[in-house]
Amino acid sequence: MTAIDGRGALLKIHRLCLCAALLLSTAGAFAAEPVWDGNKVAMVSEKLAPGVVAYYPHDARALNARGGAAATSSGLIVGTRGALLVDTMLNKRLNAQVLALARKSTPLPLLYAVNTSAHGDHSYGNMYLPAATRVIQSANTRDYVDAHLADDKAFMIKNFGAGRGIEQISARTGDLLVPPGGRLGIDLGGKRVEIIDFGFAQTGGDLFVWEPQSKTMWTGNPVIASKPALPWLLDGHLVETLATLRKVYEFLPADAKVVPGHGIPIGREALLWHIDYLAEVQKQVQSAIDRKLTLEQTVAQVQMPEYRGYVLFDWVHPSLNVPAAYRDLSKN
Ligand SMILES: [Zn+2]
Repeated sequence: MTAIDGRGALLKIHRLCLCAALLLSTAGAFAAEPVWDGNKVAMVSEKLAPGVVAYYPHDARALNARGGAAATSSGLIVGTRGALLVDTMLNKRLNAQVLALARKSTPLPLLYAVNTSAHGDHSYGNMYLPAATRVIQSANTRDYVDAHLADDKAFMIKNFGAGRGIEQISARTGDLLVPPGGRLGIDLGGKRVEIIDFGFAQTGGDLFVWEPQSKTMWTGNPVIASKPALPWLLDGHLVETLATLRKVYEFLPADAKVVPGHGIPIGREALLWHIDYLAEVQKQVQSAIDRKLTLEQTVAQVQMPEYRGYVLFDWVHPSLNVPAAYRDLSKN
């Protein structure tokens, strides 16, 4: 995809994020409450292997189990030369938490930080990293931030509330850029990390971080969390997203550990929940298109109640994913 396409896609995402936030806030008792509060989230760490650590919110395990919405996950990979941080969090407070956890893991310098996407909860903390840390992003993410940070912050303040440290954010974009479809190998000393663009996965600037020794992968938002969480086709592209998730699944060995964008580590087989859901959406929406149903008729018919366990189902399925699939499949 071109950079211009990427920017357009990302802008659309943030418009849709806003809709989600409005939906969530009006569904709650107090309209101003964010889904999760960047002033309250407390990050904890889980060692997955020597020099490989997952960071996630203290309540992620409970929220994931009941289909709730947890805050952002992160992680650290440590070699003999230094460390690499995965995602830099929403604000100064959360960035400081993961940097403090990193210092507990190693006295070595933080050489790199990867943004799995341009979403603020994965990248706004870049500005608080040590000056010598090199930021790794998708080229599409860099282009989006260069052009749209002010709009992005306004949307994020609406999503996550004023006074959550978003107002203070200024851009710090990538020092190392991964081109669309590209791959970057990083040698941390005794540990080689692969940063991979497997294809369009949610934003067009989606990077997956793979540590082959421990067989650990960080996915960012294309995999939000374990079942019953579902993918968000924020910018459509059902067919590409499904192909990308299948590619990721095929890439992973059977005993891989996967750290999702908003949850505790899961296994490779947990990806099948997301793949099966998207495949079923594709099958049912294609059948509706073949029968010449309208979008409204398709939404009414493709209900898939077996996936209702996710707290955001009533928004993400009928208002986002089915219409996105309908538009994508109607093009063929
Ligand atoms: Zn996120």
